[in-house]
Amino acid sequence: MTKSDPKTYRVKSFGCQMNVYDGERMSEMLSDQGMAAAADGENADLVVLNTCHIREKAAEKVYSDIGRLRQADGSTPMIAVAGCVAQAEGAEISRRAPSVDIVVGPQAYHRLPELIDTAKTGRKALDTDMPPASKFDVLPGRKKQPRPTAFLTVQEGCDKFCTYCVVPYTRGAEISRPWSDLVDEAKALVDGGAREITLLGQNVNAWSSEDDKGRIQGLDGLIRALDRIDGLDRIRYTTSHPNDMTDGLIAAHGEVPKLMPYLHLPVQSGSNRILKAMNRSHSRDSYLEILRRVREVRPDIALSGDFIVGFPGESDSDFEETLSIVEETEYAQAFSFKYSPRPGTPAATMDDQIPREIMDERLQRLQALLNKQQMAFNQQTVGRRTTLLLERKGKLDGQLVGKSPWLQSVHVIAPGLSIGDLVEVDIESAGPNSLSGTLVERIAA
Ligand code: SAM
Ligand code: SF4
Repeated sequence: MTKSDPKTYRVKSFGCQMNVYDGERMSEMLSDQGMAAAADGENADLVVLNTCHIREKAAEKVYSDIGRLRQADGSTPMIAVAGCVAQAEGAEISRRAPSVDIVVGPQAYHRLPELIDTAKTGRKALDTDMPPASKFDVLPGRKKQPRPTAFLTVQEGCDKFCTYCVVPYTRGAEISRPWSDLVDEAKALVDGGAREITLLGQNVNAWSSEDDKGRIQGLDGLIRALDRIDGLDRIRYTTSHPNDMTDGLIAAHGEVPKLMPYLHLPVQSGSNRILKAMNRSHSRDSYLEILRRVREVRPDIALSGDFIVGFPGESDSDFEETLSIVEETEYAQAFSFKYSPRPGTPAATMDDQIPREIMDERLQRLQALLNKQQMAFNQQTVGRRTTLLLERKGKLDGQLVGKSPWLQSVHVIAPGLSIGDLVEVDIESAGPNSLSGTLVERIAA
């Protein structure tokens, strides 16, 4: 391992899909600098840990990962900590873990090459600035994609300041990337082999920009522009905030053929009292009304959400309201978390923090209900004829796994077909986490 002149790298991303996107851009940049991606199973000269700070467990994980990078002879690779832990903890990271050479925040990673140069001289390198000039302006162009699905970050940061959340502090203020950059990047991704693009943002549906004719466009306008790109078959977006679900975006779900019937719309709690304490700025009813309208234009839409149990002050009856909003909605899939107090957020110092045992019990009840609904949704799709975008090999010979329009993993025996093919299948059976289908025909190779 040559800490003084790294030749190979590995980027490990944790947490959200936006980190996956950032990790890909960092890898592309390091390759552009002449470094090579370390082969599977081989030690890399430079390891970038692209971290997540959203919950305590995720944030603490970085320190055990750093420890594991130490070799039997006591040496370590050059270590860079990137992402939201880097932004939140800054220089404290190399004090706590002296083997860390570089600390770089999510808005500064385009400066990684200079930081590596500093680290080569044996000095610690730190950059957690949020520069006004966007990293996107200086990152190299997109490379050929190894997968048929690609992420495209269109919006970053958050101005909403939910009282439990670190994102406004670690990712900074809400910014929207310009229209033409996004249309160009989407075309480059499609030219590089992507058939499906997922538009990403902390509040992706808050995206807004002038188009090439100077008209202000929202996310629905961008989706309609991507719908016109030949070779792109599917469009998704995540994560949305209920307050930014515009009429235009709801209408797009009924009108844009390539927009997949899946909506991830976090609600966090079913209790208006808790939503207010969370500073969510939407109510239980306004959330349900959005879902009703989306279902009206796209009846088969798969609904997904995020939930937090055990927010400070959450009573048994508040929690019952969360269960009842889930009952009422019937989710196809959802993510649920125990509340984790984050340093610097208002909720961390609120009275009436909920004991761990109560949170555990509530999370179990909520997840049991969500799992039941996911299974029911999967079973409803049995007997349907639908499309799959084949994404990876399955365990059996000749088996491939693809995603349905509703983001379910579907296994299919598909001799002669390849990853990246778009196929038609009949869904035959469903389990809680995956389904199987039989091939009808290949639609596009
Ligand atoms: N912007 C999106 C929204 O408001 O719906 C969510 C983005 S956040 C990165 C992803 C999810 O993490 C949130 O929806 C929330 O459920 C969860 N989360 C955020 N802060 C949390 C905390 N302190 N404890 C537990 N879960 C948290
Ligand atoms: Fe966090 Fe709320 Fe912003 Fe979502 S909207 S990123 S939960 S502050």
